[in-house]
Amino acid sequence: MAHDEKPKTTRPPSGYRIEVVRRRCTGVGTCVEKAPRTFDLDDDAVAYVRKANGDDDGKILAAAQACPQDAILVFDVATGQRIWPQEGG
Ligand code: SF4
Repeated sequence: MAHDEKPKTTRPPSGYRIEVVRRRCTGVGTCVEKAPRTFDLDDDAVAYVRKANGDDDGKILAAAQACPQDAILVFDVATGQRIWPQEGG
């Protein structure tokens, strides 16, 4: 009956875990255009994750796929598998 108990999962609302490989980023800003609630540019015009699940998964994946530097890595939270960039392509 403990309705106030929070679930003990560490899984975020989004199904993706994302990383920006900042040394690859050239500050084009495409990711910010595609998923503005998730990505932003810092003062050095390098992208960072401002909110991990700021946009829905489709937008986040589209942002990663649009990055000309493949600087955005997308992992499936459930399996840990990298979704983008695809390996061995
Ligand atoms: S799209 Fe890629 S290169 Fe452009 S700002 Fe985002 S992470 Fe950097």
